[in-house]
Amino acid sequence: MILPIVLYGNPVLRKTAAEIDLKDESLKTFITDMFETMYHAEGVGLAAPQVGKSMRVFVVDSAPYKEIYPDHEPFKGAFINPTITDRFGEDVPFAEGCLSLPKINEDVIRKSDIHITYYDEKGEYHDCDINGILARIIQHEYDHLEGKVFTDNLSQIKKMVLKRQLNDIASGKVHPAYKTKK
Ligand code: ZN
Repeated sequence: MILPIVLYGNPVLRKTAAEIDLKDESLKTFITDMFETMYHAEGVGLAAPQVGKSMRVFVVDSAPYKEIYPDHEPFKGAFINPTITDRFGEDVPFAEGCLSLPKINEDVIRKSDIHITYYDEKGEYHDCDINGILARIIQHEYDHLEGKVFTDNLSQIKKMVLKRQLNDIASGKVHPAYKTKK
């Protein structure tokens, strides 16, 4: 089922998301719905707060980046109760966008590498280093679980420039092609 995507301005995007009970029977269906919603909106990542659920889970499919980065090994999966325990390597700028902030694309500087622990959709625990574009997507989605959006990482000047665009989204003036809710 395709879920409506919450847009900038909705308070759920500002909450710190809650840990998930891994035994929750509804989790599997919810993750399936999140993937379907992400593909419908042509995203590479989607976090639960973006569909109005303040829960610590996000889904990722990096396959579209295979075209830009031929060496990239595409990854598809869910990250449940993730914790980024370290960020290291180089500072890398990259133009990010977000399904909750339609039509805004800005360079965000993030670390090239992360260390993360999480459970996948099968309930298996992972403790690993991730780098490159996948580390980028994960850091973006992880921000959503912490009540942050990618524009929070920009300079004060950039934020001022974007203020009107962000206000337009918050006041319902921006209508992307996918199903949304304010
Ligand atoms: Zn986002």
